[in-house]
This record gives sequence, C-alpha cells and structure tokens, in this order.
Amino acid sequence: MTPTAATAVPSNAFTRRTADTLTMLRDSGQMKALQMIEGPMDATIRLRGYGDVACFCSNNYLGLANHPEVVEAGIEGIRKYGAGTASVRFICGTFDCHERLEARIAEFYGVEAAYSFTSCWNANEAIFPTLCEPGDLIISDELNHASIIDGIRLAASIKKGLHRTVYKHGDLEGLRQKLADAKANPEITGQRWVVTDGVFSMEGDIGDLPALRRICDEFGAFLVVDDSHGTGVMGKTGRGTHEHWGMKGTAIDFVTGTLGKALGGGAGGYIAGSRQGIDLLVQRGRPTLFSNALPCTVACSADKAIEVLMREPQRVDRLRSNVEKARRGIRSAGFEVLESPTAICPIIVHDTAKAIAMSKRLLDFGVFAIGFGYPVVPEGHARIRVQISAAHTDAHIDALVNGLKRLKAEASR
Ligand SMILES: *Cc1c(COP(=O)(O)O)cnc(C)c1O
Repeated sequence: MTPTAATAVPSNAFTRRTADTLTMLRDSGQMKALQMIEGPMDATIRLRGYGDVACFCSNNYLGLANHPEVVEAGIEGIRKYGAGTASVRFICGTFDCHERLEARIAEFYGVEAAYSFTSCWNANEAIFPTLCEPGDLIISDELNHASIIDGIRLAASIKKGLHRTVYKHGDLEGLRQKLADAKANPEITGQRWVVTDGVFSMEGDIGDLPALRRICDEFGAFLVVDDSHGTGVMGKTGRGTHEHWGMKGTAIDFVTGTLGKALGGGAGGYIAGSRQGIDLLVQRGRPTLFSNALPCTVACSADKAIEVLMREPQRVDRLRSNVEKARRGIRSAGFEVLESPTAICPIIVHDTAKAIAMSKRLLDFGVFAIGFGYPVVPEGHARIRVQISAAHTDAHIDALVNGLKRLKAEASR
C-alpha cells in the first residue's frame, strides 16, 4: 500500500516519516488500539464499547489491584500525606510510608535492605549505571525485559570501559564460556554481573536460578534477578522464582521487581539486596537523586498488598490451580500453549496481524486477551498472551475456553 497522499502533512522530516510509519502500521493491520477501561481492574472489567468482559491480560495475578484493604490503605495514605512529595528523596521527599514499604519489601525477601522507585523500569535504570563501574562485565540473557536492556545500555554509555555482552536465552554453557573468556581479558578486572528475568514475560518460562547461582559462584559473579512477573506468583508463598527453586532471597545478590503487577498493581518498583548496595543507590543513583519518590498513596497501597499476600498465601494456591485449569482448557480448545509453571500462557500464532485480529474477535465473545507482535516480540513470533489471576472464577476460565473454541470453529470454516 502506498502512504496516503501528503495533502495536509507539512513538509519536515519528522512529520513525513511519522506519517509513513503510522500508515504502514494501519495498512498492515499492526496498529494497536488502546482499549478504555471504565472501572477498576479486576477479573471482570468494564470496557468501553464492549461492556463487561473477562480480563486475561492484566498482571493482577493475585487480585489485589481492587482489594478493599489495598484501596482503603491508599485512601488513608492520601488523607494522611496529601497528594504528593513535591521533592526528591534526599532533599525532603522521604516519608515514613516509604520507610515502612522498604522495610516490608526487605522482610518479604529476607534480605538486608530495599529501596523503592516510581517503576521497575526506573529501578533497572538505577541499578546498572550506579552499581557497575569501568572494568566490570555485565552478561544478560537475550530475552531479558526491555528495561534491563536499556539500563545496561545506559550504564555502558555513561561508564566507558564497562563491558557488556548477551548470552542466548537460557544457554548456561554459553554463559559459562563468556565468563571464562572474561578471565583471559586483561580489560575486565572488576565485578562480573549476570542478569536474568525470573519469569520471562513473553515466553512465560523461568530462569534456572540454581544453575545460574552455581556458575556465578564459580566465577565470583553477582546474580541480579528481575522478578517482576514472578513476585506473588512463583513459590509456595509467592516470594518469587527463587522460592520456586527452593532458594532463599539472600541467594540472589540483587532482586529488582515491580509493585505494578501482583503486588497491588498501582505503580512502583524496587531493588532489594545488601545494605551496602542500597546505601550506594541512595548516594549515587541518578533516578533517586533527580526524580520524585513514589507517591505516598501508592506506597501505602503497595505496603498493604504485600501484607495481604504474606497473610494469605492461599491466594498463590488459588492462582496455581487456576493456571492448571486454564492450560488444560486452552489445549482442549485446540491451541498450543507454551509450557511452564508460570501464570503467563502464550498461544503462538506467528503473524502479528492475525494475533491482533484474534484478540479483537475474542472481545466480541467477552474475553479480553491481547495479541502481541513486533516489536514487543520478534517478527514471526506473534502470540495471544493469556494471563491468569487468582481472582478468576471457574466461570471466567470457562468463558476463555469457550471463546477460544469459537475462534477455532470460525477458522476452520
Ligand atoms: C513489567 C516489567 C517491568 C516494568 O515494571 P514497571 O514497574 O511497570 O516499570 C520491568 N521488568 C520486568 C521483567 C517486567 O516484567
């Protein structure tokens, strides 16, 4: 398709190329439509133009986003602390609700200390540029989250002589080889860092943390795990992917995570680990020195969400049995779902336009599950990503399975 005639488009480089890009996306069926939600995030949500639909694409894994205690804690927070901090943390922007939240996060992981950020994206842009130095080497799984990739790129561009490389997804031998090669490299004299997602957000598979720990120990490397999709989901009490593997929080040198998924879903992220590492982040982290803290209302809600999770680990059991039921159902509808112990169930359909069309059709059946294509996943690997929550009832999961069966029936017509 040719781009639309540039009648009203002023002639400068930006408007020309942007019109081309948007036209290309529209014509190839790849344009994302943002759906408007007209009520709280929950297992059932009210979607503009569709009414009530069963939601299978939020990260509300434990159903805490609209939990009455979590909501109430936020309301109390805004009453007590007002609308905002109006300052960065080290000047006069640290409130006792931040202190409480960070103590709770450290307790949750059983580690010395934690520090909160306005997002996990922010946490990942703080940790690498702050803790890593020239002469260090960062080795990252190729499928790590975009915020890890960008955090490492930022670190390497700020600190000349900071080395970085990538290992093939889950390729432990490849990782070991890179660490061995680094031993022979006279330019790499500092700390080695190995970085992985706990749960990979697009595949739904998990990092082999025990094996990664062994390899790190062999080479004196630190292990950093971003467990944004594992927190509240993995392990018997929802501590995360390390608990799934039977490891303590202290077995990971630094964990980064989000408060925007299972832990209430408001916003915010954190880094948890050694007191020394956190102290350095407070002193030197650019996002901590130059950007406001988490709003107090959000800190209060997140603190309550973690409290509820610690008090009610049965939410994690409910999530697990929902995941098993959903995976069985997806297969019974004739679709293949990538196998894993996580709450992320990707149905691979390859083509981006097809994934978007399927997702749109599912909405007609009252099921909201989003299609992902390039650039979120590589070209040719488009998928419908179904995410399960402890808040789903059997009726929600039945609706999902029936929707998928109708899609299948339509496709074979
Ligand atoms: C969602 C996610 C993030 C981003 O979290 P925000 O708090 O929304 O910025 C970072 N890392 C991983 C692995 C994620 O899945």
